[in-house]
Amino acid sequence: MDHDEAMQIEEDADCSHDSGCMLEESVGAPPFFAVQISREEFQRQAKEHTKEALQRLVGSLEFKQMQETCKTCNVCWSLEHISLECAECGGFAIQRPCPICSGRCGQLWTRDIDMSHAMRTAHWQGDCGLPKEQQQVYLYRAMMDDSETAISEALKELNTENCDR
Ligand SMILES: [Zn+2]
Ligand SMILES: [Zn+2]
Repeated sequence: MDHDEAMQIEEDADCSHDSGCMLEESVGAPPFFAVQISREEFQRQAKEHTKEALQRLVGSLEFKQMQETCKTCNVCWSLEHISLECAECGGFAIQRPCPICSGRCGQLWTRDIDMSHAMRTAHWQGDCGLPKEQQQVYLYRAMMDDSETAISEALKELNTENCDR
């Protein structure tokens, strides 16, 4: 008799537990909260996707190599190739030591590829790491060197002209 009574109590306990579960099931997010996007939003996302695909292409190695190729002599700068006599190459590939102090400051300058292509002469972007006063000394010297070279070249031309006569 005692045993049966115990069983009865256990069944009652189960029953109350089930009803508690059913109560929980009825609480949940209504289905009409699903994400919906407008036509404009869809077009915006599609455009964004195209832009990403384009950026991936632009970032691809082939495009990079094509872009980083000298238009004058056709060597590939990204492969560290240059032509010594080519003005667009300018003696260096993608990077060069600081041209102001001839690399004494340890800074590397990066080629301005668009400008190099457009002007057909090497263009570089960077900053000299030396103090401004020292930079000016180097710039002044470079200017003097240039004018000396210009003078000596002018003299050479004058001499050859004289020889021709
Ligand atoms: Zn070149
Ligand atoms: Zn420098």
